[in-house]
Amino acid sequence: MDESTPQIRIDTWLHALRESGYRLTPSLRAVVAVVAESHHALTPMQVLALAQAGDAEISRATVYRTLEKLVELRLVQTVHDASDCLRYVAGDADHQLLVICPQCGRSDAVQSERLMGLVNAIAADHGYRLKDRLLQIFGICPECQ
Ligand SMILES: [Zn+2]
Repeated sequence: MDESTPQIRIDTWLHALRESGYRLTPSLRAVVAVVAESHHALTPMQVLALAQAGDAEISRATVYRTLEKLVELRLVQTVHDASDCLRYVAGDADHQLLVICPQCGRSDAVQSERLMGLVNAIAADHGYRLKDRLLQIFGICPECQ
């Protein structure tokens, strides 16, 4: 997906959540692992179903609370799918372009310093200083075409 392996990503996220006062329960760990390892932008219900495969005790509240916090920590970003449902996808790398299939949620991260330089230059031309370091574009993936 990008330069960070799933395990490094999981450790980073768990560390950030613990620093934010979260208790690293098995449920929270399961939710983090599902999102960190997925190559798809997932709906909360998909996260719940996948996390429950390993631990049946996970509540919806845990899924929502964890996802919201990960977004707040800028480790996960939200995307809207074809039916305007909110999906969650790992977005924790700088200079990242995320290509997302709105039909199945598949996402691929592309690192491009050159693109980010261009985006920064365009923003600067219009007097803006960029705040968000993540770009999303949508396209129908090979499987959905
Ligand atoms: Zn697709």
